[in-house]
Order: sequence, then structure tokens, then C-alpha cells
Amino acid sequence: MSQFYDLKVVEKEDLTPESVSVVLEIPENLKEKFKFRPGQFVMLEKNIKGESLRRYYSIYNAPGENLIKLGIKDKGGDGFADYARHHLKVGEHLRVSVPMDDVPFNLSPNKKQPKKFLALTIGSGITPFYSYIQYLIQQQSPDKLVLIYGNETPEKTMFYKSLKTIEQQYPQNLKVYYVFSKNNSGDFTGRINPEIIKTILQKEGTDFDGVYIIGPDDLKKTAAQVLIDSGIPTDRLHYRVYS
Ligand SMILES: Cc1cc2nc3c(=O)[nH]c(=O)nc-3n(C[C@H](O)[C@H](O)[C@H](O)COP(=O)(O)OP(=O)(O)OC[C@H]3O[C@@H](n4cnc5c(N)ncnc54)[C@H](O)[C@@H]3O)c2cc1C
Repeated sequence: MSQFYDLKVVEKEDLTPESVSVVLEIPENLKEKFKFRPGQFVMLEKNIKGESLRRYYSIYNAPGENLIKLGIKDKGGDGFADYARHHLKVGEHLRVSVPMDDVPFNLSPNKKQPKKFLALTIGSGITPFYSYIQYLIQQQSPDKLVLIYGNETPEKTMFYKSLKTIEQQYPQNLKVYYVFSKNNSGDFTGRINPEIIKTILQKEGTDFDGVYIIGPDDLKKTAAQVLIDSGIPTDRLHYRVYS
């Protein structure tokens, strides 16, 4: 059973027209319990319209601050994301579980042997990778993340400007391939598909120490076969499916 605690919302701002950043303060007495690694997520519990909702959200900041930052995308339902975007107020308390993970998602940076990882995601699936990217830089790790990131447009892309800046400043740590379905200013236009993945693998190689896919089941299906056919061992492929 997860342990839940009341954490105060100390900041809320728009990340894109559909998504918000919600920042929760970790009080001194809960610091140890809320220690987290990049890739971990919390569960929020909220009663909305008489129904108790429990929803998972990945932490997008790097460890080291007494804060938990969540990037929540509202896809048009009337559940928690809608509440967070339209009604949640700074000063309010949310019921938050201690950070948790699904075991294969070990995104800890290492400092010795440089490693190379591939990530594929769309929309709000960026959050755990954004935590990892910031941590890589903070830790001066030699590891590199190649990220294939699908969105409709740059304006609807979470952390777009910040990712651009990080990529320019730390090209040894981050390479992003933007795939926009409704705009042709990215590296590819359309939805992430096997041809796009193959083209990127031809450029980046296939010698990844781990491949992480976060998104809906169809992204997993689209990516898995082409990655396996390209010679990436199945035990290096890790999935987290968001519905
Ligand atoms: C491990 C994990 C980590 C996650 N991390 C994040 C994260 O960092 N950020 C994030 O934003 N989400 C994340 N999610 C997804 C999140 O938990 C919720 O599923 C999501 O926010 C939807 O919750 P809701 O209560 O707003 O959905 P509801 O409003 O209850 O809707 C439920 C689902 O119905 C669908 N739906 C409803 N209405 C529409 C509509 N009009 N059009 C299209 N689809 C519709 C959506 O797919 C939605 O997910 C994560 C999920 C998991 C499992």
C-alpha cells in the first residue's frame, strides 16, 4: 500500500496551452520519504465530483530540491488533469504518495563508463526524461540521451524552449529529434513511425545501453518491432504505457 501525505502546491503555471506545471513543497520532516530518482512518479489522490480519483504523475525536476514538480497534460477529460489545469490553486494541499517506480526504469546517471540511451515518447511522456536530462547535467555525467519526441506543434511541446537550450549547451548529453504531426518545423513531420525511427537509427547507431518508450500502446507497438529488427536486444527495451 502506498503511503500518502498532504503536500502544499507552491507554484502553478502553464507549460503549454494544454498542460500545467504543479510544484509541491516537501516539508523538512518528509524529506527522506520523498527522496526520488529520475524516472520515478507519484500517485495523487483527489475527490472530484464525489469520486475518489487516483492518478500517477512522473516527477519532472531533478533530485536535490525540496520540491516535486509535475507536468500535467489535460487531454479533454473531466478528471484530475482538467481539475489541475482549471481549478487547482496555489496554497491548496494535495494528497501525494511517496515516489515509486516500475523497476526497469533505472535512469540513474553514471560517472565512469559513458552510456548511451534512446528514449521515444509523445506529449506528457517527456516528464521523467526531462528529470533525467537535468540530472545528467547536474551530475556532469558523460551519458547521452537521444530523444525522439512527438507532438502536434512546438507550442504544444512541453519544455520545448528549455530542451532546445540544453541541447545547444550540452550536445554531448542530449540530442532531440522533434516529430510534429501538425507543423513542419521539426526534424520530421507526421507521427512517429517505423521509417522515422529507422532513419534516426541510421544516424545514431543502435549501440544503446537502454531504450525507454513512454506513451500509449500504439507507440510501443510501432517502435518495438523496428527496434528489434534493427538488432537492439529485447532485454534493453523498456516500456511504460500511459493510457
Ligand atoms: C506511471 C505513469 C506516469 C504518468 N505520468 C504522467 C505525467 O507526468 N503527466 C501526465 O500528464 N500524465 C501522466 N500519466 C497519465 C495520468 O496518470 C492520467 O492518466 C492522465 O492525467 C488522465 O487522467 P484524468 O483524470 O485527467 O483523465 P480522465 O479525465 O478521467 O480521462 C481518462 C482518460 O480518458 C481519455 N479521455 C477522456 N476524455 C478524452 C477526450 N475528450 N479526448 C481524448 N481522450 C479522452 C484520456 O485518455 C484520459 O487519460 C502517467 C501515467 C502513468 C501510468
